Amino acid sequence: MSLRELAGAALSAQNLAMQAHVEGPADIVAAIASAPPLGRALWRYAYSRQDDAARHVAQYLVHDCMHRYRWAATAKTCRLAMLAVYEWTEPNCRICGGRRGYMLGQRWLGCPICRESGLRRFSNNSRRRFMGEWDVALDSKLYLMLRMLTDTDATTMAVVRAQLGRCSSYLTIGQKPTYTSNHQVNACSALMA
Ligand SMILES: [Zn+2]
Repeated sequence: MSLRELAGAALSAQNLAMQAHVEGPADIVAAIASAPPLGRALWRYAYSRQDDAARHVAQYLVHDCMHRYRWAATAKTCRLAMLAVYEWTEPNCRICGGRRGYMLGQRWLGCPICRESGLRRFSNNSRRRFMGEWDVALDSKLYLMLRMLTDTDATTMAVVRAQLGRCSSYLTIGQKPTYTSNHQVNACSALMA
């Protein structure tokens, strides 16, 4: 079981009783509490399937983008953040299968379809339907948002692993799960081409 899967299970666990001899759900939840707010919300949404966390992820994403890129928190940016959250939690890129590239003979080629993100990208028509418009500027902003989610996911993983240091020997770093919850399917169905 990967650490992300364990975290997802821990975040929805009913019984957080501490166990003296082994890290349990309570330890993992405590470790996640040390992660940045965007990472905490992202893990709740992506790995613990808490659908109501999507809005929080989008809010923190806008906040962090305002900070890093000096964007204004317009209604359009907030809606773009929701799009980014939905896209990020979609299954892997259909071309590279989430591996961010592939071997062509002896050469490793970065996947041009997902721009080496490993993510399945919605079509521009789908994005236009969600946003009411779509252009190069929105495309660039979306890409930065997706990168920020990927970076934050990695940061959160590093924080949780560090917090759970002594049990790290039996925890493996798993690939980002590729499930899509029913709620996400419903929310995304209008976006899909
Ligand atoms: Zn790809």
